[in-house]
Amino acid sequence: MLDLTTLQVASISSRLAFVMVFLVTLLRHPREIYFGVWASALCSSLVASFLMLGDPPSVPLNAAKGSVVYILYGASLALSWVGLRLFYERTPRIPLTIVLTLASGLPYGVLQQAGASMPWSLTTVFGCIALSTALCILEILRTPASMRLWTQYVVLLGFSGYLCTFLLSIGAVHFASERLASPESGIYPLVFDLWCGVFIQVGYLAMVGERANLKISRLAETDPLTGLANRRGLFAAINRRASPASPPPRCAILLADIDHFKSLNDTYGHDGGDAVLIGFAERLRNVVRKNDIIARWGGEEFLIVLDQATDDVDPAVAAAERLRRAVAGQPFTVNGAAVTVTASIGVSIVAAGEVGIEPALARADAALYAAKRDGRNRVCLERPLSQPDIKAARTEPLSGLRGAMDAIQIAGQPRSEPA
Ligand code: GH3
Ligand code: MG
Ligand code: MG
Repeated sequence: MLDLTTLQVASISSRLAFVMVFLVTLLRHPREIYFGVWASALCSSLVASFLMLGDPPSVPLNAAKGSVVYILYGASLALSWVGLRLFYERTPRIPLTIVLTLASGLPYGVLQQAGASMPWSLTTVFGCIALSTALCILEILRTPASMRLWTQYVVLLGFSGYLCTFLLSIGAVHFASERLASPESGIYPLVFDLWCGVFIQVGYLAMVGERANLKISRLAETDPLTGLANRRGLFAAINRRASPASPPPRCAILLADIDHFKSLNDTYGHDGGDAVLIGFAERLRNVVRKNDIIARWGGEEFLIVLDQATDDVDPAVAAAERLRRAVAGQPFTVNGAAVTVTASIGVSIVAAGEVGIEPALARADAALYAAKRDGRNRVCLERPLSQPDIKAARTEPLSGLRGAMDAIQIAGQPRSEPA
């Protein structure tokens, strides 16, 4: 048989361990103040547990002690809510937190002094801490998909357990008060409290770890200068779209290269060149649709993967032309000067039957070379191989690719020899 004191000591010990872990982590990461708030939440409930140590749960608390103990429990849940808001980068609601904390215990003391019945005094306590718990649950549920973590559902489970307990307790004090008077009645809530508490505290640590891992993998897939995907990020994004059930989706590929970028660097310095790269990335973002993928492919080369399911090249060429005009149509501001920048763009599409984007990439590269050769500031397209050619290319890749060269000039610029 479980005994009450052992359970209370176990509960206090586990909370003490979590307080230590949160405080040590806060020391190492002082900007992550939610660790401090969660530690304070645990400290509040710890002090309340110490005050209750040795008190039989079947005997109601007097007005003064009840007020203090329930305010401390209320503070614990209200602070958990504040910590969650800080974790999700939302501003904490301090006045509401104070109201929730005081309302968890003060009405109990006042009602007891006024001679009100115990069930109604306890209803104010359970009602208020149930409200704080519901706010914690809502905070987790309203997280947008981009910030959602799998481990937050462990914390959700813990808070849901608490909410059910508090709501059931309201029913119990009104309709089963004779059962609450038995000595064992305090055991089961304490076991449940121990479980829910461990789910929540372990869940917090897991959430922090999961988010840190996500940040690291996002950084590894992002170009720090432009904020676009790097090569690794591009292939990761393409793979995320593919699954064993649905093969890699068909798409069009645009390979854009800024013209004469080296001389821009020479004239305006490396920082000036960087400003153009950042502005170029911004214009790319404005031209493509939400589902398209943009990546910085190399120094001043950018790769855009357009979502499209057909062999029709016209939409891809139109998108490339929109992009070319978005760049050339309006000067960039570099060190206070207005600088006209142009780009050459090679276009290709992933043809039906092709596996992976590599053949299409090679064609976009050839088309980009053609655009440079033909005078720059233009869009060139290289059409995919026909089906019989694809079969031939599988046995003779070089002759197959060379034979497919079909670059067409889109922008009406005079032809010139490669620089
Ligand atoms: P083209 O029209 O044939 O493309 O000529 P280009 O001058 O644009 O091409 P080239 O390959 O000769 O020069 C690219 C330059 O881009 C050389 C390199 O110093 C510069 N570059 C590469 N990465 C960065 C970067 O991150 N910042 C800046 N400012 N310059 C970069
Ligand atoms: Mg260039
Ligand atoms: Mg280049």
